[in-house]
Amino acid sequence: MSSFAAKASHRSWIEVDLHALVRNARAVSAQSRVPIMPMVKADAYGLGVGPVVGALESLDPWGYGVATVAEGEELRAARIHRPILVVAPVEATAKSFGAVRAARLIPALGDSRSIRMWMMTGGGDWHLGIDTGMSRAGVRFDEVGALAEELKACPPAGAFTHFHSSEYDDGSMDVQTQRFRDAVAAMPAEPELLHAENSGAIARTSPSPWSFVRPGVFLYGVGSGAALVPEQVVHVHAQVAELRDLKPGDTVSYGATWTAQRPTRLATLSVGYADGYRRSLGNKGVVRVGASRAPIVGTVTMDLTMVDVTGIPCEVGDIATLIGGDGPGAISVDEVGAACGLSPYEVLTGLRARAARVYV
Ligand SMILES: *Cc1c(COP(=O)(O)O)cnc(C)c1O
Repeated sequence: MSSFAAKASHRSWIEVDLHALVRNARAVSAQSRVPIMPMVKADAYGLGVGPVVGALESLDPWGYGVATVAEGEELRAARIHRPILVVAPVEATAKSFGAVRAARLIPALGDSRSIRMWMMTGGGDWHLGIDTGMSRAGVRFDEVGALAEELKACPPAGAFTHFHSSEYDDGSMDVQTQRFRDAVAAMPAEPELLHAENSGAIARTSPSPWSFVRPGVFLYGVGSGAALVPEQVVHVHAQVAELRDLKPGDTVSYGATWTAQRPTRLATLSVGYADGYRRSLGNKGVVRVGASRAPIVGTVTMDLTMVDVTGIPCEVGDIATLIGGDGPGAISVDEVGAACGLSPYEVLTGLRARAARVYV
């Protein structure tokens, strides 16, 4: 990562390793043995959808998954011609559906009113969302029969469900899978495309029994345990802006939540919560300085974060690693999330703030 010393003009920055991203996507393909539909919603989980999709195109994915019409339009503007599925509900109005159609997006529909409106406004490819236990969107697995008329009049090209606990070995995936199978069997005709698996489910199932898989967070380097371990994709770095020596009794940052018990060498890093580095990491997180790990002391502020570097070689201008890094001391997104009580998804999507992004 030393080449990034060249980026010294940035106070902090997010390095996105697109090679690692592509290797993670290859690992997903090898595991599932079906095409992939990378989930690139929320600006590719905060990593930047343009470069992410640019890298994933080389893998010839089935298509891409987004959450909003605007995200789909952005992909079309970037000259992506593959199928794009909007997995979250789209407002069932002529205007919204017009926008969906204009961008050749595929909506996920799951209730009579939406399907009828889709039909009335011109129809086209759509997928039936089936709720098998998330209670978030789509038709309930045991109420698909009530949509028979709509499904006959306007058959969907696909049907899908979403697992609520794919990262836990609690048997719930089997329950949801059976509900999905029953729901599909209750449709007047089986759609050509069936899909269910997110990252956690992909790691548990090989080969996939469905038409394609929907990996998200795994591509971006998050996922632990299970058969599939992703490579780190995101590395966050910040410069050491100042160094100071504290005397016992000196306090650090807002609220004086940390007090030096002994003479302490303190480094101030040019990163804060406005860069997406969570405030709740105060007194909980660690960063890497050289080969050592230095604990965050005091509250993370908007622009600056203080770490205890007592006994650690450290100069002004040195680069600390907040997330990522190489070798055994690397800091995973999961670890950062665990330190501050956030899911790794929130840590990643939170990085969209001020910090510059650098693509490898
Ligand atoms: C976000 C999302 C995914 C991807 O989930 P990960 O856990 O990030 O792999 C898959 N399917 C749907 C419907 C989603 O909303």
